[in-house]
Amino acid sequence: MLRLSQGLLSLLETCPRKFQYSILEQLAPPPAESQQNSLDWGNRFHLLMQQAQLELPLEKLLGGQDNMRQAFEALHQANPQLLAPHPKARYESEHLRSLSFGEHSFSTIYDLLISDPEQAQILDWKTYPKPVKTKLLTEHWQTKLYCFVLAETSHYPPKQISMTYWFVRGKENDSAPESLSINYSQAQHENISIELQELITQLNHWMGNYRWGNAFPQVPLGQGKCDRCNFLKRCRGEHAQEGYQLGAVDLEAIAEVSP
Ligand code: SF4
Repeated sequence: MLRLSQGLLSLLETCPRKFQYSILEQLAPPPAESQQNSLDWGNRFHLLMQQAQLELPLEKLLGGQDNMRQAFEALHQANPQLLAPHPKARYESEHLRSLSFGEHSFSTIYDLLISDPEQAQILDWKTYPKPVKTKLLTEHWQTKLYCFVLAETSHYPPKQISMTYWFVRGKENDSAPESLSINYSQAQHENISIELQELITQLNHWMGNYRWGNAFPQVPLGQGKCDRCNFLKRCRGEHAQEGYQLGAVDLEAIAEVSP
């Protein structure tokens, strides 16, 4: 049985062989220093937002020279609702949910879940600038799984659920945070249910083969996914092409690995 996060579903969809190396064989290298710095900043920001919701002291986390205070204050200015909750709404930081699905389960951690009698809003803090192609986010497994699990584990029908991403660092020379809200629907819910069933069926098939010594499938070189894969040499051996760069592990996926 696997506890599957959105990061693991994304990894599996990106490349099954990479899922095998990273998750089943635990071969992912530690992140590079620059990546680690970004991860640390993001982790500290998430902790800061959680402490703010719990009305705990913030000064220790706000200190330093790394614009943490600026990002924190700008987010609250852009969304005053965060500091002045509606009396009828419930605010839950780092809210964990899980859903059994066949022999596996899905797990989600909502940075903030705001619910009232009429609707439930999932909020997520992103520490990179808002992507130009917002379709990437609407179709990302984080959006799909987070909404799906909430609809399956609460009394809210899909049309009363939404997900809002806050890009807290803004773009270069413009530190104003930006947001993107995505509404959920019954039709999306049914489509995602089918997608999940297909993906889990595939996963079970590959895991069955793996137990008999067969590796998970690779993706074709022509798709461009191997160019920056840190498993290129292990995976392709002598067929690894010159000019392909090693490194750039999928941090988001690895960070959410569940035991
Ligand atoms: S080199 Fe390509 S096929 Fe192999 S694990 Fe990486 S992305 Fe997948």
